[in-house]
Amino acid sequence: MTGEAVILKKPEHGISRRNIDADALRIIYRLHSLGFTAYLTGGAVRDMMLGKTPKDFDIATDARPGQIKKYFPRVFIIGRRFRLAHIHFREGKIIEVATFRRQSGSGATEFSADRNVPENIYGSPREDAFRRDITINALFYDAVTASVIDYVGGVADLRLRRIRVIGDAGERFREDPVRIWRVIRYAARAGFAIDADTEREIAGQRHLLPQCSGARLFEEISKDLSHAETRLVIAGLREHGILRHIIGRAGAEYETNPACFARLLQFLSGADGETAQGVRIPLDEMAAILFWPWLEPLFTAAAGDMHPILKNAFVAAEMNVNLPKSLRAQVIEILVLAGRMIRALRNGRMRWSLRGRPQYPQASRLCFMIEKGRLPGNEESFENLFRQAFPQIPTWDRQRRRRRRE
Ligand code: ATP
Ligand code: MG
Repeated sequence: MTGEAVILKKPEHGISRRNIDADALRIIYRLHSLGFTAYLTGGAVRDMMLGKTPKDFDIATDARPGQIKKYFPRVFIIGRRFRLAHIHFREGKIIEVATFRRQSGSGATEFSADRNVPENIYGSPREDAFRRDITINALFYDAVTASVIDYVGGVADLRLRRIRVIGDAGERFREDPVRIWRVIRYAARAGFAIDADTEREIAGQRHLLPQCSGARLFEEISKDLSHAETRLVIAGLREHGILRHIIGRAGAEYETNPACFARLLQFLSGADGETAQGVRIPLDEMAAILFWPWLEPLFTAAAGDMHPILKNAFVAAEMNVNLPKSLRAQVIEILVLAGRMIRALRNGRMRWSLRGRPQYPQASRLCFMIEKGRLPGNEESFENLFRQAFPQIPTWDRQRRRRRRE
């Protein structure tokens, strides 16, 4: 960890303050006026260097969480193992302000091992850069001097369009196998190549992923499912044989059955198209989309109540991602309802009282996706499809109206 940082001035990095969240800038200037150092960090700098709009603006500083709490209103200190400050703004906006820290001596990070042991190992900006996962995620942007600060060779990797783990890839993956997933995610999203060393270690260490806690793996999959590039990331995970280590048998099926996987990719590109336009697809619906192609054969094979059949399939799949119980129940409900809708489109028989089920809207969209290969537009729904197929059969509304008249 020696060597000076590479500093890029404005003409070399092209980041404009105008693209930075005004509240984040205010926090940075205020910390600066109080005598602290404060940089934008992580995904925000990476995305701006790539000409993309960052999802959020995280700040790294030498101010301690307690000091941040003292100088700013609406600060919440979170995190058991490493304490961070969350500054709250209107409409639920939160800006994360983390104190520079270094990798702990044992090699364990806040990302692994025992999360209950408090461990505030503060460090310098350089140490903070080196504890991060990949080089392009470890750049700082100093808004006061309008410069990018690079300790780890991230700028060179951005130019080479390359994803490289900081330090020894094998070691960093053993410390925290989730980094394997992250490498693949950022390579897929940016369309970058994975550095040869890093790539070799993925193949060597991917079997460690199931050692990560199911809750953490769930956090990671939630990030991918709420982002507009799900298709690219899932395809990358499959290419590297990671899916089976995350979603068990569902992943193994996608890795070994190209037709089934092609169907999933078609669904995901439909969903990504919506997300890219600013539509927020609920997590239960995205998860149902993710699992439908894998479970579809069960719907043709079995008759009767699909709930227990799907429940068993999830248990037997031995997923390492821990889907919270309530979410799993919602996903199963969406899948069951969508299955019923598909059947109704074939035989004209639908129990319209199902419209009252909370997951009905998500199921209606999934059914449309299964039939049409894309999510429905404003005027489209399962009911439209049903009316087109069976114009003479009354739908829920007409049945109810008739009943009222009787
Ligand atoms: P995005 O939020 O757009 O997916 P991001 O880079 O902001 O991308 P986060 O998961 O929000 O990703 O993490 C913020 C930063 O924290 C990363 O940019 C990286 O520097 C660091 N980081 C996150 N996870 C790890 C990890 N497992 N090991 C080391 N550093 C990590
Ligand atoms: Mg982020």
